[in-house]
Amino acid sequence: MRTKLLTLAAAVAVAAGCSDVSEPKQPQSVDMPVEVAEQVAGVVESNPLMSISPLQYQAPQFDQIKNEHFKPALVAGMAEQLQEVDAIANNPEPATFDNTLVALEKTGALLNRASLVFYNLAGSSSNETIRAIQGELAPKMAAHRDDIYLNKALFKRVDALYQQRESLGLDAESLRLLEVYHRDFVMAGAQLNDAQQQQIRDLNEQEATLTNNFRQMLMAQRDETAVVVDSVDELAGLSEGQIAMLKAAADEKGLDGKYLIYITNTTRQPILTNMDNRALRDRVWQASVNRGIAGENATYPLVQQLTALRAEKAKLLGFDTWADYRLAPAMAKTPQAVRDMFSSMVPKVAANVEREAEAIQQMIVAKGETFKLQPWDWAYYANQVRAERFALDESEVKAYFEFKSVLEQGVFFTMNKLFGVTFKPRPDLPVYHEDVLAYEVFDADGSSLAIFYGDYFAREGKRGGAWMSAFVKQSGLLEAKPVIVNVMNIDKAAAGQPTLVSYDHATTMFHELGHGLHGMFSDVKYPSLSGTSVSRDFVEFPSTYQEDWAANPEVLANYARHYKTGEPMPKALLDKVLASRSFNQGYDTMEYMAAALLDMEWHSLAVDSKVEDVAAFEADALAKNGVKLDYVLPRYRSGYFSHAFPGGYSASYYAYMWSEILAADAFAYTQRSGGLNRASGDKFRKHVLSVGNSIDPMETYKAFRGEAPKTAALLERRGLL
Ligand SMILES: [Zn+2]
Repeated sequence: MRTKLLTLAAAVAVAAGCSDVSEPKQPQSVDMPVEVAEQVAGVVESNPLMSISPLQYQAPQFDQIKNEHFKPALVAGMAEQLQEVDAIANNPEPATFDNTLVALEKTGALLNRASLVFYNLAGSSSNETIRAIQGELAPKMAAHRDDIYLNKALFKRVDALYQQRESLGLDAESLRLLEVYHRDFVMAGAQLNDAQQQQIRDLNEQEATLTNNFRQMLMAQRDETAVVVDSVDELAGLSEGQIAMLKAAADEKGLDGKYLIYITNTTRQPILTNMDNRALRDRVWQASVNRGIAGENATYPLVQQLTALRAEKAKLLGFDTWADYRLAPAMAKTPQAVRDMFSSMVPKVAANVEREAEAIQQMIVAKGETFKLQPWDWAYYANQVRAERFALDESEVKAYFEFKSVLEQGVFFTMNKLFGVTFKPRPDLPVYHEDVLAYEVFDADGSSLAIFYGDYFAREGKRGGAWMSAFVKQSGLLEAKPVIVNVMNIDKAAAGQPTLVSYDHATTMFHELGHGLHGMFSDVKYPSLSGTSVSRDFVEFPSTYQEDWAANPEVLANYARHYKTGEPMPKALLDKVLASRSFNQGYDTMEYMAAALLDMEWHSLAVDSKVEDVAAFEADALAKNGVKLDYVLPRYRSGYFSHAFPGGYSASYYAYMWSEILAADAFAYTQRSGGLNRASGDKFRKHVLSVGNSIDPMETYKAFRGEAPKTAALLERRGLL
């Protein structure tokens, strides 16, 4: 999901979804377009992005925006913001909060407007033109941010204000804004001298090359590690469809009469779930866990180089380790806080893994086998245990979750019970695809609050997953009301048929509107502190918090009704659905924690420590944290850990579970202190949903909860107590 938005409105990617993250861009060479003036002159009259939308709350004029409008608006927007920023930096007057910070918050209106529309559509309605613009503009957008954050004159003003921050008479939100700006400048390298900044640039360039090589090798590993199967007999247990796919994959590689199994990104390979042949399970497993160790596409050397380079960069920027650098702006603040939180859960999770392993071993024996459970057997026999315990007919379950009923009688109903808000359809507002639903959201007192779009159905050009994003972000300073979208990938039924969703999709709809309300209830002054502009380990908290209302009895009675008969969902069926969700959670939780801690250890290296043996380091890192288990390997091992190494999640893979800990703890607290009512909702809104990033996230949490988060509720939520 989401991310800390770039402070200066010039957000590079704004999807606050559950899969996407915009990384703070690092310094690199400046490359400003020279043709700006002509482009602006040529399009200003006909380009709807060039001016403020006349629609309610500046909702985008989707009926008028065309692909050719994006690039000129984005390019002109960057130029405009740079001019504005230069004027602030070179202001002959001494720095004041107003002429520097407030002025910065007001820059980039055009870029903001255009990029919010562009990057939203790039996620939900992409095409070749949009992809080409994206590729062309990516380095320019990164350079644009550097132009601002490495502007020495500008930093001097921010720093001068920061040094006298206690005596400026600032209100709490303004002080927070100053602190956040100052930190972002420092973290970008603004404080360094020219030689050091050059070093940072060099390191960034090397890092970009290494991460690019890593990605290339991961792709090349796909062919290298694919498992060739000679005979169809070995594939017993797989479906006809799966077998046909494996045959097609082999045919494509010219392997006539054979079958080809590609390894997927995680350690665990989904195909093992149904694979009867134990020897083949072993082969597939080994192909997965040994990726990157040796051969032409060995990524182990890159792991060593990247972690050493990041340690050096962190030191230059004034931090002990890369993990310290990365966590400074997060809720956790230090790597140790993450270790403490996770280690408190390890014994319980490990005990669950043992219990699950015993049940699986019993199943192995019941099937007449005598061998001892190995990691490659887990998924296969766990699936049989699952089938025995929870025989679930997915279509029987789905019959109770008709899409519109889930949305309006479930999700909207819950938000009305908690917050008093109502959703009124606004079919008059233009949308970017006919499937997109438009609503106006009204507050409990009847006042209008926001525009909300629901873009729920899968289609070509939409990337996978689910996310929330904003077209307009709330800001008191800019007098802007929020315009928010939720995007999902539910398969739409044929015309005339009801669209039925899985229980998982139903909870995701609650989840995404949880993000949505984080945007819509935002009540802050400064746009860069607004709504979901919070740290990565906090952003999934408000959304995950809303998920479990999907199983609340009062909510269920209102929405989970058979699409034909209108009958409520039988309790036995519901219980089975809920119980099946906690199945295998020991394994799932352990493999995630092991990966998160492995990521943290790799990025906690001091600058002069040298890792000679990647495999040994990995084993030590896991053992040290009590997560080195026989049957459960990390979800990603070092050689193919794309989040931690080439991806944007270095020292941050922990963030998903950190957010879930907050959500479970807060939800359990709400259950104990009143449950589904306005008092609960209003308290959550006041302390969490309305404050955005205007308050330190730990303080935000404590203000709502009365104390720091604990892990017991997460363990209970996952059925691990
Ligand atoms: Zn999310």
